[in-house]
Amino acid sequence: MSAEPSIFTLIIRGQIPSHKVYEDDHVFALLDINPFSPGHTLVVPKEEAATLDAMSEESAAALGRALPRICRAILAATGVDSYNIVQNNGESAGQTVDHVHFHVIPKHRDGRGLSFSINSSSLSEEDGAEMAERIRSHL
Ligand code: 5GP
Repeated sequence: MSAEPSIFTLIIRGQIPSHKVYEDDHVFALLDINPFSPGHTLVVPKEEAATLDAMSEESAAALGRALPRICRAILAATGVDSYNIVQNNGESAGQTVDHVHFHVIPKHRDGRGLSFSINSSSLSEEDGAEMAERIRSHL
């Protein structure tokens, strides 16, 4: 991780302005500066972990507690009934700010929001058993 504070840390400290929607001891939420749709919100842990896997349990628990409440507020404020949560980890996964953040992206009835295509394949019994065992062995 860089020694320099991330853009989100500077925002959390109040050194860069933002449209804040929520704050507690561990979590900060703000409107995205380049929204995919009206209400697009970023939910950020104050702990400056670069990716989700680097978060402390305390910070992750606080984020998990705050997220549904923030989502309910976004639903009520925008009037949508659908939304996507996007959380990118690593440059090749599309992460541009190296400080964990969850995008909450309202899906509006006129189509504004996240659009994506998924390239799924089918999981064979053999590959599934092997991969699940490999992951379990690291937990
Ligand atoms: P990522 O691509 O890392 O998942 O998403 C980073 C997000 O942070 C982008 O959607 C981008 O618009 C948003 N962002 C980057 N800089 C700022 C900023 O200074 N203020 C706000 N409000 N959002 C920002």
